[in-house]
Amino acid sequence: MMSIDVRNGDHLPATISLDLEVQRILGLPPKMFVNGARTETRRGATLDVINPSTGEALWRAAEADRDDVDVAVRSARAAADLGVWTVRMSPSDRQRCLWRLGDLIAREARVFGQLDALDCGRPVSRVELGDVPASAEHFAYYAGWATKLNGRTFPADTRGMHVYSVREPVGVVGLITPWNYPLLMAAWKLAPALAAGNCVVLKPAEQTPLSALYLAELAIEAGIPEGVFNVVTGIGAVAGAALVEHPAVDKIGFTGSVDVARSIVRASAVDLKRVSLELGGKSPNIVFADADLDLALEGSLWATMGNSGQSCTAGSRLYVQEGIYEEFVQALVVRASSLTVGAGLASEACDLGPLITDRQMTRVLGWIDSAKSDGATVVCGGQRMAGENAQGFYVEPTVITDVTDDLDVVKEEIFGPVMAVMPFRDCDEVIERANNSRFGLAAGVWSNDLSTVHEVAGRIRAGTIWVNTWGLTSPAVPFGGMKQSGKGREMGEDALDLYTETKSIWMGWQNPSK
Ligand code: NAP
Ligand code: MG
Repeated sequence: MMSIDVRNGDHLPATISLDLEVQRILGLPPKMFVNGARTETRRGATLDVINPSTGEALWRAAEADRDDVDVAVRSARAAADLGVWTVRMSPSDRQRCLWRLGDLIAREARVFGQLDALDCGRPVSRVELGDVPASAEHFAYYAGWATKLNGRTFPADTRGMHVYSVREPVGVVGLITPWNYPLLMAAWKLAPALAAGNCVVLKPAEQTPLSALYLAELAIEAGIPEGVFNVVTGIGAVAGAALVEHPAVDKIGFTGSVDVARSIVRASAVDLKRVSLELGGKSPNIVFADADLDLALEGSLWATMGNSGQSCTAGSRLYVQEGIYEEFVQALVVRASSLTVGAGLASEACDLGPLITDRQMTRVLGWIDSAKSDGATVVCGGQRMAGENAQGFYVEPTVITDVTDDLDVVKEEIFGPVMAVMPFRDCDEVIERANNSRFGLAAGVWSNDLSTVHEVAGRIRAGTIWVNTWGLTSPAVPFGGMKQSGKGREMGEDALDLYTETKSIWMGWQNPSK
């Protein structure tokens, strides 16, 4: 099969000009957001925030250290202990604040679009039309839960005892988020945490602090009291670790890599802090010969290439049934080669942006090279992009064939626009191969045969199964991983379990006539 060059990088598209509000934000000095205001760190250290589309520094963020994290945690602790968000506000007050914050996110779609496009490199239209409405929906959905966190009553003893439970906030919650969908990943955690009445310190990824800080400003505008939602920017090993180790933090909600998750779990052993984890994956995507192949092709392409492969659910192990395999791969190569790649703020909308860092790009190219030296065939892409995209961290959409199940490119999460395509014979074989992974975040199956679909959906060990579709999430639907893909479920009613404690109350009473 011949290799086709991707057509991007031929020209560097002009970028859109920044809104005034975005220019204001980029003019702000490096501060964290604590107790309702942008606040200086004690020592004034800063971190360069790089634009991955150009490789140039675009902002300096505050680099919080252990003492700064302590200040932020104390602010959240004081708000929690004073009950500013719980005792002093009613559930319907909280509901209204969260609803308003959702509306404000939607109002500021352009600003969030540009902020996330700048420091994450995600195409601006995808943030504006995808991540922003999804984030706003999260707040709208969990706003409703603020007034619906009911307890229960129990028939624990028949006479002289009334037993009931209430659901209380966990208290102070530390949220640690990754860079791949900066606003949305914060919203996934923040909305249920706040709806349940917690006070929060959020540590966004060091690469992407801009939208989290802006969200904190909007939270004040929405009426969320000072101290309830704080943001510390800085390095994971310092600020993130300090949050995890802080004795006044009751719970950590984390999204990121398996290695960091391990260090968080180890650190949490000291005070047995509550921890929930959303981690990576190597999600299998299975196309049966009877599927609607146009639909399967488009779905499989975006399952892996979407966000340049920097998605925890990336369907980067593609299994295609014998009989349609050759034809499907050919079509995939044509489609992958036609994807446009360019700057997050390109004025001619591109399908994909760059990878997040130089380091990530080098790692991805390393996976591709190691596959080649293991005898795999790169049928499309495989290179850093040249031409006018050469300054940013761009990798061509890459399709790899002739792989065996034991290759790194089939086993390891790559977090780049790279898919490994493999033929399979039948249902039993492909289920076994799909489950042969330490991950279990998501899986896809494309078939019009009801029995095939049920068989596969039932037997694959993954937290989400998409049938004849890929990548859909909703605030109402639980999401999370089995095996090493995570612990706990975000979204839906399930997420409230992560952010509440159940308290059972035994109330004795006497019969007054006795
Ligand atoms: P990462 O290095 O694990 O970082 C995630 C967050 O943890 C960042 O804010 C990071 O800060 C912080 N951190 C790093 N070391 C820490 C420590 N010792 N203690 C506390 N916090 C620490 O992951 P990433 O490279 O940003 O993101 C990519 C990974 O996240 C991939 O593996 C992907 O699969 C996973 N992911 C999963 C989901 C999901 O929903 N399951 C969603 C998105 C991404 P720094 O930025 O300073 O490193
Ligand atoms: Mg990191």
